[in-house]
Amino acid sequence: MQLHVWGGAGEHGRSCYLVCAGGKRLLLDCGVKRTGLGEYPLVDASVIPQLDAVFLSHAHEDHSMAIPWLYRLGYRGVVWTTRLTAEKIEAYLASWGSYVSKQGGALPYDERDISRVDYAYLDELTPALEWKEIGDGLSVCWGRSGHMLGSVWLLLEVEGRRLFFSGDYTEESTLLRTDRPADAPGGLDGLSLALVDAAYGPDPERQADKLERLYAAAERVWAGGGQLLLPVPPSGRGQELLLLLRQRFPRVPLRVEAELLRGLEQLRLSPGWLQPGALGQLADAMGELEIVRGEAQRTAICAPGAEPGVILTGDGMMQSPVAQRYYARLRGEAANSILITGHVARGTFAERLLALPESERGCVVERCGFKIHQGLHDVRRMIASMASCHATVLVHAPHADTLALRDALEAEGYSGLLALQPGDRIEL
Ligand SMILES: [Zn+2]
Ligand SMILES: [Zn+2]
Repeated sequence: MQLHVWGGAGEHGRSCYLVCAGGKRLLLDCGVKRTGLGEYPLVDASVIPQLDAVFLSHAHEDHSMAIPWLYRLGYRGVVWTTRLTAEKIEAYLASWGSYVSKQGGALPYDERDISRVDYAYLDELTPALEWKEIGDGLSVCWGRSGHMLGSVWLLLEVEGRRLFFSGDYTEESTLLRTDRPADAPGGLDGLSLALVDAAYGPDPERQADKLERLYAAAERVWAGGGQLLLPVPPSGRGQELLLLLRQRFPRVPLRVEAELLRGLEQLRLSPGWLQPGALGQLADAMGELEIVRGEAQRTAICAPGAEPGVILTGDGMMQSPVAQRYYARLRGEAANSILITGHVARGTFAERLLALPESERGCVVERCGFKIHQGLHDVRRMIASMASCHATVLVHAPHADTLALRDALEAEGYSGLLALQPGDRIEL
């Protein structure tokens, strides 16, 4: 068995792994990186027409946005994913296309390639945590990975060898359900290869600790009479944060940009992906939100003297004009605060804002992470459930963070851990 890292290990972005085993060639994800004109996986184009199967873990652009490129390069098979992931791709394509054109770049694929993408649905093939043969000598078992609606981890058996791909994974979501891969028939024993989400590197903080910091920051802002702005992706952690804030601060006004409603509605329509009890919380919350639909309303809620509350706006990296206009409104008052809860790519508005000296920001701009990936404790728990895995590749974080995590776990006695980089190839 061989693993070719075409992207995603030693970096945040362009997740793409080629696995060759027993004459079969499988591709796991094919994403992009939001830097410059857009960075793509380091594919060997001659291999693409010969791929036996492609698997897509979830819809986020760093995993999905180079999938149409595979068809431009001659792939004609299916992309195994979930129905929800396939449904979300269109919105991500629009956002990626507009980013690339704004940068003055061009996509390496066109509408024809996009329309050629042929999705096949894992969740309609077999229930979670069950094995199913999908080709000669190729079987799959999937589970919900807790990271976003439709996101999955994969266990694959190729010519008698097993490999595990965590996708983007968390067990800490209060909203989304996670199936533990260790609960699959055969569990995680005897794996030849595992690709494990380790996006937070050696960060030991648990979600509960991060949330306490976020709540404390929110209380400080409101005590000072300020507004708290949370820029979040239109669908993802924003909806969960909203429910958590509502639970913790039932009397604080929750103002939500209309674009986040679609994400809430989609959650409501996907009960099979939710934690027990989440559906009721969603329905209750949706009745209480103050939906923001236009400029006049935005100006009113940001005006000095308005009742302190939380505002959720789409675009976690603040690239959207709406998010940037919120900053323009809030920067006049030192009591106001913008809380960045996710990854910010280089060159984005949120990154530039965080790089400004505090005296020039005009209002508070803070980072307070909300976990949708794995940190130290989570990776340890995952690898502890893998008896005798031949090679475990820690992925989704910059190389230095990955090395620090590997060293920390090796010091605890774990072995077989690899910190690889794009372009690396290992023989197993
Ligand atoms: Zn993701
Ligand atoms: Zn990712």
